[in-house]
Order: sequence, then C-alpha cells, then structure tokens
Amino acid sequence: MPRYIFITGGVVSSLGKGLASAAIGALLQARGYKVRLRKLDPYLNVDPGTMSPYQHGECYVTDDGAEADLDLGHYERFTGVAASQADNITTGRIYSRIIERERRGDYLGATVQVIPHVTDQIKQFVLSDAGDVDFVLCEIGGTVGDIEGLPFFEAIRQLGQELGDDNAVFLHVTLLPFIKVAGEMKTKPTQHSVKELRSIGIQPDILLCRCEIPIPPGDKRKIGRFCNVKESAVIEGRDAASLYDVPLEYHSQGLDTEILRCFGIDDAPAPDLSRWQAISETIANPDGEVTIGVVGKYVGLLDAYKSLIEALAHGGIANGVKVKLKWLDSEQFEKDDPFEPLEDVHGVLVPGGFGERGVEGKIAAARFARERKVPFFGICYGMQMAVLEAARNLAGVDNAVSTEFSDSGESVIGLLTEWTRGNEVETRTAGDDMGGTMRLGAYPAVLKEGSKVREIYGEAHIEERHRHRYEVNVGYKDKLEACGLTFSGLSPDGVLPEIVEISDHPWFVGVQFHPELKSRPFEPHPLFASFIAAALHQSRMV
Ligand code: GLN
Repeated sequence: MPRYIFITGGVVSSLGKGLASAAIGALLQARGYKVRLRKLDPYLNVDPGTMSPYQHGECYVTDDGAEADLDLGHYERFTGVAASQADNITTGRIYSRIIERERRGDYLGATVQVIPHVTDQIKQFVLSDAGDVDFVLCEIGGTVGDIEGLPFFEAIRQLGQELGDDNAVFLHVTLLPFIKVAGEMKTKPTQHSVKELRSIGIQPDILLCRCEIPIPPGDKRKIGRFCNVKESAVIEGRDAASLYDVPLEYHSQGLDTEILRCFGIDDAPAPDLSRWQAISETIANPDGEVTIGVVGKYVGLLDAYKSLIEALAHGGIANGVKVKLKWLDSEQFEKDDPFEPLEDVHGVLVPGGFGERGVEGKIAAARFARERKVPFFGICYGMQMAVLEAARNLAGVDNAVSTEFSDSGESVIGLLTEWTRGNEVETRTAGDDMGGTMRLGAYPAVLKEGSKVREIYGEAHIEERHRHRYEVNVGYKDKLEACGLTFSGLSPDGVLPEIVEISDHPWFVGVQFHPELKSRPFEPHPLFASFIAAALHQSRMV
C-alpha cells in the first residue's frame, strides 16, 4: 500500500503549494521511489474547463481528456508521470456524483449529509486507483479556514487516523512575511494558521515556510515550539531563481529527509539529483538570448499561459539559450500600428484562446510573421487565425471567418460536430452544454512525408492533446495548399486538419493541438525546441 502525503496551505493563497508538491514528488523519485500526485479542489465547478483563465489560470488537459487544474501541469513536468482523470477532483464533481446516486435511490432512505457522504466520497477518491506506487501526494486547494475546504480537511483528518502515523504525513505550506518597516520576519500568521488546522483536528508534521529572506536563528525553534512541530521539521522555503531550482533548494533545506523521517524511513537511498543540477546550471548560464512576441488575450494573468511559458523555457534549455517573452495584448494590437511592437522579436507565437475579442490582432500578427519571414508558431486558436490570414490574404477568401466569432462570412473554420475517438463516434451540436464537451485529450495525427513537421518530430505518427470546439474546414485544403499553406498533419481519417505549415518560410507552423502540455524540462517538446532554434537563427541574422 502506498504512503500518503497531504499538502495543505495556510495564511494566503499563491504560496506555490503545487510547485512544492511537484518538487517533493521529484525528490522522492530521485531516491528511487514511485510517486503519484493528486489535486483536491474545493470549488463548486465540476472542473475548471468553464472557468475564465483570468480567474483560474490555464486549464490543463490530460491524455485521457480531463480538463484539470494547472497544478497537474507542474506535477507532470517535474515527475514525468502522466496525470489522468483520476488525479483531480472538485467539490462540484463530488456533489454531482452524490446527487446522481441519491436520485437513483442508492442511499435507500438515508439522510444524505456532508459528513459522512461527502467526506467518504473524498476519501474514496484519495485511496482509489493509486496503482503500484510508493507515495501518493495529495494537495488540497485553497487555504485552511476557507469554508468550502472543510469537508476536505475533515476527510484527510480521518484518513490520517485510519492510515496511521507511519503511512500518512501532513505538510503545511505557510508564509513568514518580512515587514520592511520593522525589519523583522513575522511568525504569527503561521502560528494562527497552524492553530486553525489543529482546531479541525490536524496536527501538521512539517511546516514548509515560504519566505523572502533566511529564517533568523532561533525562529525555527520558536515556530516549532508554538506550532507543536519539531525544529528540524520547520523548513525554509525561499523563492528560487528558477522553478527548476526548487527541488535542489528544498533538498538542501532537508525537506525530503524530514518527510522520510516522519514516515519512520531512515535507510532511504541518497537522492540522485544530477539531472536537476545539470538543468539548473544550463538555466543559470545561457549562451545567448532570444525574444519571442506572444500575442494573446489573457496577458493580464500569466498563469493563463503556464504550460506555454514552461514549454518555451524548455525550448530555450534545448538550445542553451534564455527565452525572453514580450507579451502583446492581441486587442491592443488591433488599435496600434500592429507591426511596430513586433519589429524587435525573433519569433511570434499566437497561443490558444476563445471568443471574439482580439482575433483581428492575432490575424495581423500571423500576417506580419508570414510576410516578414519571422518564425511563427500558432497554437490552437493561433493556428486557426493563421489559416484565416492565409485564406483572406493569399487565397482571396476576403470574408473568411470562424463561426466562433462571426456568422456572416465564409466559415473556413466551423463548429466541430462529429469526430471519432478510437472506435467511438462523438457528436456535438451548437446547443450542447459548454462544460466537458470539447474535443479533449490525446488524439493521433499523421504527418505528411517530406514536411517540416515530419522532420522535426522524426516520425510519421504522433499523439497530442487537444482542447477545441471548432476546426479548420478540410474542404479548403486544396485552395490553401495551392497558395503555399500545406496541411502537413491530418487526423488518421484525413478529415481533421491538425497541422499547417508554409515551406517557403524559415519556420511557420500552426497546430490544432496543445504541444505545450507535453513538454518537459528533461524532454523539451520537439516543436518548441525547433521553434526556438529558428528564433535563434533569426536573432543572428539581424
Ligand atoms: N476557440 C478555439 C476552438 O474552440 C480554439 C481553442 C483553443 O485555442 N484552445 O476551437
């Protein structure tokens, strides 16, 4: 049976609990253990698929088609373990299951209640399908004290008791703020947060204290004494220069050793951190720099592009260079001289997105990159906009649109109403629910012999993760190909355009899927590695 690590957060949100969980997973892996990471989200949405990226950040997509919290992206990038539907649950999902069962009559006359029905369902989720792993790490979203989090805390409290001390460890991520005017680090918010946790019956074993400066001598003992944890279990978690330094930093503070000690494991093999050290050195000592202009509509909250930012950094790691990002609001881009802000970039990337706002700015950016022969990477909506640009300006379809933003004009991009998943046919109509109804998860594509993407991937059959409701109408293939926009990747049945490219261009690729979701620091995605290589080439030409 696996051992369980429950990770909670206190004082404020955004302390990097997800990153801390991912880093702990990586440290345990470095000692030869197998891990699995799960996220429990207390909000009422069934999944984050319908939540605004402005509020919730990116919606991560797994191979099996879950629309999941972005922390699952951290987990996958740090551990390389593919997450699944079974690794993210929300209050909304739990309640919808319970209410469905209640309507069916499964409770046989019982009064259905938060305790025990909701808490039992949470416990079942935590314990189910863990697979053959040594440790399951469960991160609870939100902050201790949130009303909506209570059933989750109660469930893990019960699990702690049922699993026993040797099989369950509670780690609390907290904040030690530094008050500049007083010149002092303050421990009181952490004491209060632990008090809150203890009032619901959870005594943390370890405190991971996020701070900007080192914890002053004596303060660890003080925190330990007032929070009822050992001094050695008060771990300093300072901000790191790079995300990929976090496992090394936490290890140097003794975090993984302390976790193992709490489980009573004192003969664990020493961790092999060589690959983390190597990556940290590559990031700290880049051999050059490229600037990529990212033309998107959610640039006000960069969490909306979490995996994209990381995949671009991985592309930099693959080429030994730093990737600087110049964020350009696609809407702003419609008003101003569109080309001016792009003059100094070495590559243009138009990421995924939804809705009408900013589409013309994205189309303008694709045009700039095509005409000026600047490397261009269009992802999902970005690919669709590149197709519209080519249709309008190369193929003479002046009124080319997507039905996502206009019903007057020629719908070169239209609603995806039928496709196959394995042997199943999926169908959709315009009136369907918004939640969970897109074409989601991993789908295969076949790459055209002799194309640029075929060379980049080095294989003819690929599988990438999707999340879209509209698609390029394959009926325009011949017309667009005659103008130089090659359909170099198609679904195996040849019906769904997956990749377009321009061969008479240094690097112009649009993909209907999200390659950023599968990029890893140790295995940069080939498209990102190749795009950054092209940008590097571009930077050396100007
Ligand atoms: N809005 C587009 C669609 O639904 C693209 C989606 C995306 O970029 N993820 O097809």
